[in-house]
Amino acid sequence: MRKPRRAAGARRREPGAARKTVSAAGKAPEPHDEAGLVRIGDIRAELHAHTTASDGSMSIADLAEAARRRGFHTIAVTDHSRSSAIANGLSIERLEVHIDAVRRAAAATRGITILAGSEVDILADGKLDYPDKVLKQLDVVVASPHTALAQDPAAATERLLRAIANPYVHILGHPTGRLINRRAGLSPDMAKVIAAAKQHNVALEINAHWLRLDLRDTHVRAAVEAGCLIAIDCDVHAPEDFDNITFGVLTARRGWLRPEQCINCWDAGRLHAWLRNKGR
Ligand SMILES: [Zn+2]
Ligand SMILES: [Zn+2]
Repeated sequence: MRKPRRAAGARRREPGAARKTVSAAGKAPEPHDEAGLVRIGDIRAELHAHTTASDGSMSIADLAEAARRRGFHTIAVTDHSRSSAIANGLSIERLEVHIDAVRRAAAATRGITILAGSEVDILADGKLDYPDKVLKQLDVVVASPHTALAQDPAAATERLLRAIANPYVHILGHPTGRLINRRAGLSPDMAKVIAAAKQHNVALEINAHWLRLDLRDTHVRAAVEAGCLIAIDCDVHAPEDFDNITFGVLTARRGWLRPEQCINCWDAGRLHAWLRNKGR
């Protein structure tokens, strides 16, 4: 019987494709090794995580311990901001108490750096949910759209560009807000979003949750091409959410992301310096 024919072009090697050959030791090399694409083992920090202060299930200490056990050097506590009432978002007063609690936990914890952050809502017009004088106190600001996700593409683009231009924003969280098979999310002009992120030194997030995968692979590819920084975050609400890193890294690899361009892969010194220098 004849073998079925391969689809046209199936044998052509693309950058990052696995070699067909085996090594001298007789072991097949790991796919994509030669292209140096990001791998799960390269991830050293989680920069988007929630605690019981908003809608997470872990205390600050438990979250930090779970991250330390993963071998991470840094965990950022980024609870929701005040407009996310459904997620028990923090008023400015509650945030200030929470920042103190994070700083105390950080001082009492060995083996991992705990950063005080926020996942700040990007309001429909692109304003952020906290004023700059509040954002300024934070080590990490993840700005994310959660509402008005049916707005038209032009308004969505303006909204995201305005958030990216805020000097205190480090990461644009789940940029489109899509939920796979549930909600299309925003359809901004991604070329403009990517160019602005590059210009303002903002990292675009690949939210690794299997319902989100946002940025999606094609957006990652365009962002990588443009030289944009990328964050791969699990948006941790519960201990098992750290496992979603697999989906985030696979999405990153589909976009040909290398560790140098992924802030979660940097060593602690480089990451902390980048966070500190932003907006200062
Ligand atoms: Zn979010
Ligand atoms: Zn979140």
